Amino acid sequence: EPPDAFIAAESRPPGGAPTLALVAEPPRWVATGITEKMAAFLAEEPETPCLVVDLDVVEGNYRALRGALPQAEVYYAVKSNPAPPLVARLIALGSSFDTASLPEIDLCLGLGADPAKLSFGNTIKKSKDIAAAYERGVRLFAFDAEEELEKLAEHAPGSQVFCRLFVDNVGAEWPLSRKFGCSVAMAGDLLIKAQALGLEAHGVSFHVGSQQKDLGQWDVALEKAAELFRDLAAVGITLKMVNLGGGLPTSYGNRLPYGVDEYGAHVLGAVDRLFDGPRPRLIVEPGRYMGGNAGVLETEVVLVSRKDAADDRRWVYIDAGRFNGLAETEGEAIRYPIISDKDDGETGPVIIAGPTCDSVDILYDKAGYTLPLSLKAGDRLRLLSTGAYTTSYASVGFNGFLPLKAHYL
Ligand code: PLP
Repeated sequence: EPPDAFIAAESRPPGGAPTLALVAEPPRWVATGITEKMAAFLAEEPETPCLVVDLDVVEGNYRALRGALPQAEVYYAVKSNPAPPLVARLIALGSSFDTASLPEIDLCLGLGADPAKLSFGNTIKKSKDIAAAYERGVRLFAFDAEEELEKLAEHAPGSQVFCRLFVDNVGAEWPLSRKFGCSVAMAGDLLIKAQALGLEAHGVSFHVGSQQKDLGQWDVALEKAAELFRDLAAVGITLKMVNLGGGLPTSYGNRLPYGVDEYGAHVLGAVDRLFDGPRPRLIVEPGRYMGGNAGVLETEVVLVSRKDAADDRRWVYIDAGRFNGLAETEGEAIRYPIISDKDDGETGPVIIAGPTCDSVDILYDKAGYTLPLSLKAGDRLRLLSTGAYTTSYASVGFNGFLPLKAHYL
């Protein structure tokens, strides 16, 4: 598969402006690039680095998912981009929210969200935060350990709880396994205990890994969830809810193996095949899918250099890096399409790095990016599909660089 940078360049209108055409065809492509609204904003040359997000793209993503899987309630994973304008738009659309902390709960409530539409989805919570969430009206909590269950029974009595299952994250570009989840057998014991402690053993959750391109991973996870439903039914406990987690991919300029409609049909088919009795309540927790392709990160080139005359790879240092928005370049896991405001045709290989005095702050060395040969300090580069997991990962001032600014259109 060619690196995303090539694909981004190819999808540029020949001889055209550095704005990308929306890649809408064939249908498995998710729109990626710069919308007219973003282009108009960027034409004013805002101070860099900055993220520019078109909320209409977020709304389109929300509506597409609702259309593809109307049987599931959408709990937006706030951690992926907690910007108030984005959360407010989703509240207006009727979304529910997966929150990871008390500040995220307060953010949603402050913007008018109904506490009945919030899930405290982090399996690792302080007792005082559980109590505060309960006091605010939150009644849906995740757990994967006995001690967490005891905290919930004490500080959120009578609440609905769901147990997170461990699943392999095979094929995910940003895995979320190992740290979370327990086996089916342990989940069964814990849910029985939940009921005994006066909580409602509501259901089960899993996460197949972020940017998960293999639909089959949901089958594997749903088989485990269905086994748990059966095990508990055998002891007289009827679970009601399956939380399908996040994992839905966004496009980083490349063709996705499936679109949101195929995702919806696939998981619904698997649920109906694997679960006995009436279809369980379904929850889906998209993060990356919702905001990813809605954002563009505008950066400025600070320096272009060479380390050795014999090495044709230039080092391109930009004003955004690992510590102010581009954390997911760790291991070059997420490869953002990068476009230049130059359109002079000739390009050459580059290593791309951030601005801090830390050599961890190298973004792409092995990914094979190319950029114009004429690139120099002061030129701008745009990183596409940066609407999720950028601002929320940025440090508040490493090396004195300000937190990543963001504009929501
Ligand atoms: N749900 C939970 C519990 C998560 O931890 C995450 C991401 O960390 C998400 C949903 C969102 O995942 P994604 O961005 O892959 O959709």
